[in-house]
Amino acid sequence: MLNGNLRLAVQKKGRLTEKSLQLLRSSGLGIEEYSERLVISARNYELDLLFLRDDDIPEYVQDGVADIGIVGEDIIFEKRADVKIIRKLGYGKCKLALALPETKQLNNLEELDGQRIATSFPHILQDFLDKNKIKAKIVEISGSVEIAPTLGVADYICDLVSTGNTLKLNKLKKSFDVFESQAALIVNKDLEQNQAKYDILQNFLFRIDSALRAKSSKYLMMNAPKESLDSIKSILPSLKSPTVVPLADPNMIAVHAVIPAEEFWNIFNQLKEAGATGVLLLPIENMIL
Ligand code: AMP
Repeated sequence: MLNGNLRLAVQKKGRLTEKSLQLLRSSGLGIEEYSERLVISARNYELDLLFLRDDDIPEYVQDGVADIGIVGEDIIFEKRADVKIIRKLGYGKCKLALALPETKQLNNLEELDGQRIATSFPHILQDFLDKNKIKAKIVEISGSVEIAPTLGVADYICDLVSTGNTLKLNKLKKSFDVFESQAALIVNKDLEQNQAKYDILQNFLFRIDSALRAKSSKYLMMNAPKESLDSIKSILPSLKSPTVVPLADPNMIAVHAVIPAEEFWNIFNQLKEAGATGVLLLPIENMIL
């Protein structure tokens, strides 16, 4: 293991695993099928992958067992690990929220004073309660927190929510948000002192950034009458000036532009009204600015 490679810890099996590997592969890293192995080296890059339980990743990065890691911010903050977050990765998004039985009401946070709240995130919840000057009792539970009100061990829960389906199944409803989380890239604070690894990290970040940018952008192509160019330009939220290409029909042009992926459906009708036809939206493999 002491081969000088940058050591990246990722979740062994879980919600973040597939997307993390996808991100690494789209950054050009050759990562083979790993099945049950705990450590593998990238085929074409100075990087070793350590597959670990996500609860352990912040501490392993803090202690230098791994140099960098990909893990949810919820775990990073809950573990109070002394690591640096260097990138938010845009996936694994979820919220830690308060929830209560459907039959009850919670109108403001002060009503939590003196109440019992079950959670697997006691540190994040405590920070939230302190910030809001609430004195509630935290009941720490390691799993199936949703069942706590039914069992009578707590009045409220504080748990991760994305669709809310699990809450509904347990006759609970979501209330105030406590913490927002997404997958993040963390780094050991002393890594800067290892020049060789620090250099690999800089190159790795460059690749990750271009892959993240590409993922959030799309390549838009359309044909339009020549005289529509100004109005089309004013509609496009493009990074740079669009590419304009003449067509065989001298009155027509093709316009190409890179746009933020989520903007497409907002501008599509305006483009059509401005005369755009044959609109194509393509994924971008990589983007270096
Ligand atoms: P897992 O242990 O496989 O469930 O993965 C848990 C991690 O995925 C959490 O620490 C969060 O960072 C993230 N995550 C994203 N969405 C959710 C969700 N709806 N419920 C739980 N965890 C989620």
